[in-house]
Amino acid sequence: RELVSPDAEGDERLIEAALRPRRLSEFIGQARVREQLSLVLQSALLRGRPPDHVLMSGPPGLGKTTLAMIIAAELGAPLRVTSGPALERAGDLAAILSTLSDGEVLFIDEIHRMARPAEEMLYLAMEDFRVDIVVGKGPGATAIPLDIAPFTLVGATTRAGLLPAPLRDRFGFTAHMDFYERAELEQVLSRSARLLSMTLPGEAGEEIAGRSRGTPRIANRLLRRVRDFADVRAEGLITRDIASAALNLYEVDAEGLDRLDRAVLTALLRRFGGGPVGLSTLAVAVGEEPETVEVVAEPFLVRQGLLARTPRGRVATAAAWAHFGLPVPPGAFG
Ligand code: ADP
Repeated sequence: RELVSPDAEGDERLIEAALRPRRLSEFIGQARVREQLSLVLQSALLRGRPPDHVLMSGPPGLGKTTLAMIIAAELGAPLRVTSGPALERAGDLAAILSTLSDGEVLFIDEIHRMARPAEEMLYLAMEDFRVDIVVGKGPGATAIPLDIAPFTLVGATTRAGLLPAPLRDRFGFTAHMDFYERAELEQVLSRSARLLSMTLPGEAGEEIAGRSRGTPRIANRLLRRVRDFADVRAEGLITRDIASAALNLYEVDAEGLDRLDRAVLTALLRRFGGGPVGLSTLAVAVGEEPETVEVVAEPFLVRQGLLARTPRGRVATAAAWAHFGLPVPPGAFG
């Protein structure tokens, strides 16, 4: 599953960094988000003030980190990067906030995983550019207010629903990132192929794009797997057939479903008769954390019309039965 997992590790991270678009004009797809963001940034530049705080939500690998970097680049501002899980104590956040420079962009990835005390400190910082440093413990503790430089917070989350309302409300602008269209992924692929000095015929690009789960990170990763395959088995020549053979080897099917997607669907169909079944029961059946099933697999399955989230649990659609060539059992839809 590592091959198509939307999270990058090690060397892959370096290649990813090299493939990142640096400016808004280079960023492919997400037309609405791009336009909205461009207005927010341009008006801030006109006024000479840092823009409102920006929240980006959406599944992993869609370009949230890339956009955070682009925001800083477009503003000509320095960027500080951290993540929710790294902010365990209020002190961790205070150390960052108190050393921000004027107009700096602070990117907090997985902001929904920040610890409570840090979150509360962030409210005040976002609103008043101030932090209260608590000195001492118990009844003798005093809060010393400290002014901090005006900054722009860019938060990213895979689960906007988990953000407490007071935090969500303090963002001036929320960008909802959606899965990419196939044609957009083709553009991502041809750009990446150019940067990696590869020859990628349109047909092969189309094949890879169709199997990338609507996700640029996966498209880029599959592109490199296709290149490996072509280098070893076809003297470096990439064709549609070569791409298709490579992707079959990595267990990505023609609809772009990967191993986890298929595991979730087959469990739902075969073990639970198509549902409804609760998220945690389903997760146990595929041996994954509920969060992985919910954040990584489900959004794409929902978007493909294969799975529905209902108040009574997860339900397979008629298309899901068809995808696996199974007859819909009588009474499957209530
Ligand atoms: P996220 O933070 O949402 O998980 P990233 O910003 O890390 O996603 O994007 C993952 C990779 O996908 C990046 O390395 C980048 O090369 C590529 N990518 C994402 N969005 C785009 C885009 N719109 N155009 C081109 N490449 C993109």
